[in-house]
Amino acid sequence: MSLEELYREVILDHYRNPRHRKPLDRADAHAEGVNPLCGDEVTVELAVTDGRISDVAAIGQGCSISQSSASMMTDAILGKTVEEVRDLIQRFKAMMDIDHEADLGLDPDRPGAVLGDLEALQGVRRYPVRIKCANLPWTTLAQALDQLSAS
Ligand code: ZN
Repeated sequence: MSLEELYREVILDHYRNPRHRKPLDRADAHAEGVNPLCGDEVTVELAVTDGRISDVAAIGQGCSISQSSASMMTDAILGKTVEEVRDLIQRFKAMMDIDHEADLGLDPDRPGAVLGDLEALQGVRRYPVRIKCANLPWTTLAQALDQLSAS
């Protein structure tokens, strides 16, 4: 299996079996994002306990890239501190930035070494119109985090 096929499998698995899709009973922050270019919608809910993401939900509809990105994001941030999540948002967006290839610290021989399943979305950079799809859940997550610090 090529790396590209592996990445496609990871994306499809998250699309077909999305993680953390159930709305939370108690959410400390809530944000909704849309990508009108593609018709993608994502709602992000966060519960925070002692500065950590103690529960998360991403509910939405749209293309496989946006919905799998949302599912991978929930797996990636659960249990992390708010600061760690902000750092992860930066790293994810850097990975998706086509002008930023050189210094990501990604090891091509070890897929998943840095960002885990999220690295499966790297291939999306070849289709610039889809980058907005991949970034949508992360932009929405950043909005939810901003609510936390505002309250
Ligand atoms: Zn899309």
